Amino acid sequence: MKWKNKGHEFDGVYDKLKRKNRFYLFGAGMYGKAMYEELSSLGVGILGFIDNDETRLHSEYMTKEIFALNEITLQEDEAIIICVTPFSRGPIMQQIQIKGYIYNEDVYTMETYMSLKYVYELKKMYISSVSFLPSTCCNLNCEACLNFTPYIKHQMVRSLQQVKEDVDIFFHAVDYIMLFHISGGEPFLYPHLKELVTYIGEKYRDKIHFLQTVTNGTVELKDDILEILARYQVGVTVDDYRLAVPEKADVFTNVIRKLEQYHIRYDINKVDRWIDLAPMSTDHSSWDEYRLTKHFEACHEPWQELRGGRLYSCNYASYAAVAGLTEESEDEVYNLKEFQKDQMKELMEFRMGYNEKGYVNFCKRCAGFVDINPNIVEPAKQKER
Ligand code: SF4
Ligand code: SF4
Repeated sequence: MKWKNKGHEFDGVYDKLKRKNRFYLFGAGMYGKAMYEELSSLGVGILGFIDNDETRLHSEYMTKEIFALNEITLQEDEAIIICVTPFSRGPIMQQIQIKGYIYNEDVYTMETYMSLKYVYELKKMYISSVSFLPSTCCNLNCEACLNFTPYIKHQMVRSLQQVKEDVDIFFHAVDYIMLFHISGGEPFLYPHLKELVTYIGEKYRDKIHFLQTVTNGTVELKDDILEILARYQVGVTVDDYRLAVPEKADVFTNVIRKLEQYHIRYDINKVDRWIDLAPMSTDHSSWDEYRLTKHFEACHEPWQELRGGRLYSCNYASYAAVAGLTEESEDEVYNLKEFQKDQMKELMEFRMGYNEKGYVNFCKRCAGFVDINPNIVEPAKQKER
């Protein structure tokens, strides 16, 4: 979205939200639990969970009952908070619409609720998530890599001093974050991963709900790093690329065994299709500002990147810039180095999708994220180097 009333874009939404006192949490899973814990600690009334899994209806989750959406009738001071990842939200939003509930009146995403609660009421800075890229190095070379690995001419490996500085700048501005994601490349090939996690764990772990990283499941995980991940409760997403890279299937098995041995929280990411974000055929360079802004808004790309003391509007646009496929421009970044506490609403708006021009340069050659991208490709298909 393009900023029109910077620092006040959510005033109207908050006016309605502040009349709500009790909430149903839609999604009795990992984020439902996280939101239950956060809201309980803030003293917010929780009525129960809503979930689409019929086998769980009327059972208890986190001491609260699980209902179906059609069993709920909202009272005037009640609302629903959607507590599932942005990737699985589409069908829920449709259900909500069919039920006749209004977005940002009866129903809020967890990002909107938490951001407004923190900034408007608690006068503190909340960020839903950030992606932090210490290095672009990867042992694989996936054709449709969302980090554009096959296009990178000069790998970026940031020094420990640089990444520590970024972490300090970020937490100088931000009081609490739901998901701090150490991304890649392949994060387990970053030579300072252990020191980086230790630094974050020692200084800022109490400001982070989920501290998370990822591995492509094709590199062995070292014991000293696993010890640190266990100590600071870092979760690991393990991509399952065994179909595309069968010669590394044994490594995948070892990775899972090691994570279990160290009692590290993990999830396996196995998908049967990928999108190609920016195939060469995509060309929106003739689009005007209005059309590019609409493309950006429809994309619903949920990530922003932290790098060099700045937040980047779109994670993938910033990866593309690192790979040399696009130019970064000042009107699509937020400079955290200059952040002052009286700019919390602006920073919150930026994280919620506002910037100076309403889109990012890379939208001119990017087909968009999963909601709008028709370019389906085989997961992790390898490209010859
Ligand atoms: S594993 Fe594949 S998708 Fe992931 S960073 Fe490496 S090349 Fe990209
Ligand atoms: S269209 Fe592409 S560049 Fe634009 S916001 Fe979406 S993912 Fe980013």
